[in-house]
Amino acid sequence: MSAQVLDRMAGIVGARNIIADPDAMLPYLKEWRDLFRGKATAVVRPGSTEEVAAIVRLAAETGTMLVPQGGNTGLVGGQIPITEGREIILSLQRLDKVRAVDAEGDTMIVEAGVTLQRAQEAAEAAGRLFPLSLASEGTCTIGGNLSTNAGGTAVIAYGNARELCMGLEVVLADGRIWNGLRQLRKDNTGYDLKNLFIGAEGTLGVITAAVLKLFPLPAARATAFLALPGPAEALALLNAAKAGAGGTLTTFELMPRTGLDFVLRHAAGTRDPLAEPSPWYVLMEVSAQSATGLDEAVESFLGEALENGLITDAVLAGSLEQRKDFWKLREMLSEVQRFEGGSIKHDISVPLHATPDFLARAIATVEAMIPGCRPVPFGHLGDGNIHFNVSQPVGADKEAFLARWDEVNHAVHAIVTEMHGSISAEHGIGRLKRYLLPSVKDPVELALMKTLKATLDPQGILNPGAVL
Ligand code: FAD
Ligand code: ZN
Repeated sequence: MSAQVLDRMAGIVGARNIIADPDAMLPYLKEWRDLFRGKATAVVRPGSTEEVAAIVRLAAETGTMLVPQGGNTGLVGGQIPITEGREIILSLQRLDKVRAVDAEGDTMIVEAGVTLQRAQEAAEAAGRLFPLSLASEGTCTIGGNLSTNAGGTAVIAYGNARELCMGLEVVLADGRIWNGLRQLRKDNTGYDLKNLFIGAEGTLGVITAAVLKLFPLPAARATAFLALPGPAEALALLNAAKAGAGGTLTTFELMPRTGLDFVLRHAAGTRDPLAEPSPWYVLMEVSAQSATGLDEAVESFLGEALENGLITDAVLAGSLEQRKDFWKLREMLSEVQRFEGGSIKHDISVPLHATPDFLARAIATVEAMIPGCRPVPFGHLGDGNIHFNVSQPVGADKEAFLARWDEVNHAVHAIVTEMHGSISAEHGIGRLKRYLLPSVKDPVELALMKTLKATLDPQGILNPGAVL
């Protein structure tokens, strides 16, 4: 790309919002697990929708390729160009305004670069709840959340990012601005275009703002840390809790003992809430709109579960501090795996009823392939979504273990496919799983996706090499 194009971009966003120095670009080119190192010509940081539109128009005119980026917490490399470095990273972080909060209408309008945590705080300041919740919420952005259709730990009650979005403002590949910031709970005037851009991972347009759905703040929350014999009991407990655990079931997260051991070993200030070790655990949260009686109702539900053998032990958080401690055990799980050497990752979902069977088969398969490996399957059991991660055997060679990534993926994905599941439940396709898409998508569906891409981005300037 010519220096002239960069000069023209500087004319739009101001020279100090163009980063071309390799060291200064590094935070945009490296992802947190260090699985990808990218290359780019520059990072461009527009400060408004109009500036985004002007940059995209210029890119369309000059055939310049753009890779949209929010908080750079994506787990499939969608936000990081990894080819020869001809792309420009289009950082949306400066679009960071909360434009409006409508507590009465239960909506808010935020710009794409607002972090998820700030969006949650803005809702809470108005006495409302924005329920999307991810361990990366301090850094990830609303634009990234919508572009990846993020899931997280409250999907069971509130849905994925898609279900939490009522309208979008999008800059199209030719630089036009589509203002679809509608605050309507009902609107059947033709195709639902916003849902094309949600989950498109920056390949169809650049999201610049969104209308988000808000909810009443719960008056009470009960958080329990539970010991269980196995996934089958966890599934039975899940269904019992959905039918009535004293309030609305908002979180149901599965953890194996191996994972808890990793957290206790590597995360400062953590401790096992229960006296005896157990092969499996569940972090369960129930919320209610009445300030009293929830703890008692949940206690009685758990008492019954104990009697029925669904759980073997339980502790209910007695304070906000203890609630945070329980959550920390779950949230540190992804991070601590790197202290145990290499980890081969999967982000799968299967129909809910198939989760125990999937876990049994997948664990047996990887243990047979790599004796001594340590499966750490954890995550959103309530959504049938398991992060089926496999840590290397103790003392094994990390590189040799990671060299078997594709082979292990292939074996695990074969089980998932046989069970009519998904090889990417919540993290997306990005660059990591792009080569897998043709083998799992219906050919008609894949062809339709390519037609949409060609229609909305005929020059292929938006996030080339991601998804398709
Ligand atoms: P980025 O990483 O910057 O980008 C992600 C993708 O979106 C890229 O393809 C990028 O091109 C595109 N994009 C970004 N902004 C825009 C925009 N404004 N317009 C168009 N395209 C755009 N994910 C879950 O779903 N559930 C979890 O529970 C979860 N937990 C996580 C825990 C940790 C510790 C970490 C590090 C990540 C976790 N993630 C999880 C993954 C990640 O946080 C989400 O995918 C998040 O939504 C990405 O947001 P971001 O702003 O960081 O986007
Ligand atoms: Zn997750």
